[in-house]
Amino acid sequence: MILTDTHTHLYSEAFDKDQSEVIKNAMDRGIERFFIPAIDSTYTEAMFRLRDAYPTNIFLMMGLHPTHVKENYEVELRHVEEMLTEHKFYAVGEIGIDLYWDKSFLKQQQEAFRLQIGWAKKYKLPIVIHCRDAFDEVFEVLESEKSDDLYGIFHCFTGTSEQAQQAISYNMKLGIGGVVTFKNGKIDTFLKEIPLHHIVLETDSPYLAPVPFRGKRNESAYLIKVLEKLSEIYGTSKEKIAEITTANSKEVFGI
Ligand SMILES: [Zn+2]
Repeated sequence: MILTDTHTHLYSEAFDKDQSEVIKNAMDRGIERFFIPAIDSTYTEAMFRLRDAYPTNIFLMMGLHPTHVKENYEVELRHVEEMLTEHKFYAVGEIGIDLYWDKSFLKQQQEAFRLQIGWAKKYKLPIVIHCRDAFDEVFEVLESEKSDDLYGIFHCFTGTSEQAQQAISYNMKLGIGGVVTFKNGKIDTFLKEIPLHHIVLETDSPYLAPVPFRGKRNESAYLIKVLEKLSEIYGTSKEKIAEITTANSKEVFGI
């Protein structure tokens, strides 16, 4: 059984003390492929270090996270563009719109999202979308940018059944993580209607730990809890879900 964590911030300060142990714990459980979303330029070096330590297991993305679109966003975007020109990445991410923490940079977030989608198309890469309290705003951009060469993952999907269908209509797979194990998570009520072909697994570690670790530091090893929950929801074996979701991740990332 090979599992793929399509969204894990393994370079985070939260893993400074035990990063290699955390990766080993995950690998011992069959999680062998880790896709690493970017946040901003301050983490780029740590991401490259991680990839150099595990070149066959770690796959990097490049992008500017919407909560880090601030006064200096143009400088940050130049960094993203430069990195995309110079190095190999497997997606442009995570990018999108987040109105939960701060609404004051909405215009800049929209601009950064649109610009980075353009780079994904240029470099023939998928996008990994971060969307929080901003479904209308994210869909508005996707509607105007949609095309055959725009595809990717709607990370940490927590919307309604209708929003799931809409995301899928833009060639997005749904990234399902710890939220599916929460009592008030809601997506567990309709997920069964979404064919497994549209699903990939993720932890978003160190955030959003699944039950029974909710509130604690999340780790890629806890992907097993997400797998168990999906197995229960779909009435399908864990092995089969691992196989399908890893195949889906290969389809998206090209590796
Ligand atoms: Zn993330």
